[in-house]
Amino acid sequence: MRKKIVAGNWKMNNNKRETAELIQALKPLNFSTDLRVMVAPAFTHLVQAEELTQGSRIEVLAQNMNAAESGAFTGEISAAMLSSIGIQKVILGHSERRAYYNETDASLKGKVTTALSHDMEIVFCFGEELDQRKSGSHFEVVKTQLETALFDLSPEQWSKIILAYEPVWAIGTGETASPEQAQEMHAYIRSLIASKYDQTLADSISILYGGSIKPANASAIFSQSDVDGGLIGGAALKAEDFSAIIQSA
Ligand code: PEP
Repeated sequence: MRKKIVAGNWKMNNNKRETAELIQALKPLNFSTDLRVMVAPAFTHLVQAEELTQGSRIEVLAQNMNAAESGAFTGEISAAMLSSIGIQKVILGHSERRAYYNETDASLKGKVTTALSHDMEIVFCFGEELDQRKSGSHFEVVKTQLETALFDLSPEQWSKIILAYEPVWAIGTGETASPEQAQEMHAYIRSLIASKYDQTLADSISILYGGSIKPANASAIFSQSDVDGGLIGGAALKAEDFSAIIQSA
């Protein structure tokens, strides 16, 4: 059965010392064996994070990677580089990457293929923008995002996929989808996977919600039957808040 997951995306925050302090503060936390906890520090701190989390159940993931195996891509990081430092998980398709670095579902398909060829687990982010929600096209948008980037995968490859539904209008805005809105979309996503593949596969996929989750709203969202945890931005930067969110899952 699918596990619950709480993952913190630290984005371009925290220097080396701050990263170490945050990890040390999270390490003593006790959480259920049914729950996975992940943190995504900046590339520069991944080696340190990997070392510091040894002996704990905190998992480290990268925030991005390039689709190419290697070559003339100044400033980029490959899957092989991540693998070589023990990082076997990556966030792909975050809305900030889509908005500021022109990532599209088609280009993300290339990243997904490369990550899977390196046996990496992927937290795949997607979700509609505010105008799409307002015009009622959010279900269609999400369907296209998933179909384009992921629906060519084999059932076996799906064992490496964690979905993160993140309505763009709720990211870093303080605006959260209501628990009912989250549940409605997550159930829809699961039904899409069931129609394309089958119900057993659909039931095995962890679907996280992301968008202004805080200690105060986490348990209401996490208690929805098709919400399997969250991808947390701002509130993952404070050990106290992130710990409280983990305890709510
Ligand atoms: C995110 O960036 O994935 C996110 C969910 O951010 P926040 O929690 O700050 O809205």
